[in-house]
Amino acid sequence: MALERTLCIIKPDAVEKNTAGAVLAHLEEAGFKIVALRRTHLPKNVAEGFYAIHKARPFFGELVTFMTRSPVVVAVLEKEDAVAAYRATMGATDPAKAEAGTLRKKFGANVGENAVHGSDSLDNAKGEIAYFFPANEVAPTAG
Ligand code: ADP
Ligand code: MG
Repeated sequence: MALERTLCIIKPDAVEKNTAGAVLAHLEEAGFKIVALRRTHLPKNVAEGFYAIHKARPFFGELVTFMTRSPVVVAVLEKEDAVAAYRATMGATDPAKAEAGTLRKKFGANVGENAVHGSDSLDNAKGEIAYFFPANEVAPTAG
């Protein structure tokens, strides 16, 4: 086990429903420490860059339109084995297939509007955190 950090985005659907606080409370109750936090409305180029790996997928345009339609809340989460632990806490991509009690089951609407993003590997987590937060905002802290 190692202390890790991972990137969480509370997506426009969840922020629009005023459930961003409930998502953060769920994460704190699950043992994640919120070590950086910001609300922002993603410009198109930032959303496209973030999801560049999905550029060839048929849903790419829909995904960028969704992610830019209203503000998101971006957070860095810290915990032992945070990357895998947060993927488990999120649940499956499609809320209909997500396990009971997961974030996507509780707050997601459908496979596109699924409430939250989470990094899928430690390497990607490092890149995604750097994409949203300057190094001084995510410096290691004692507390
Ligand atoms: P995850 O977010 O679970 O890592 P992916 O990386 O496969 O899932 O997809 C990224 C995001 O693209 C999903 O969270 C979802 O918002 C959107 N998405 C994935 N599959 C579809 C689909 N079939 N139709 C519409 N949007 C999708
Ligand atoms: Mg993914």
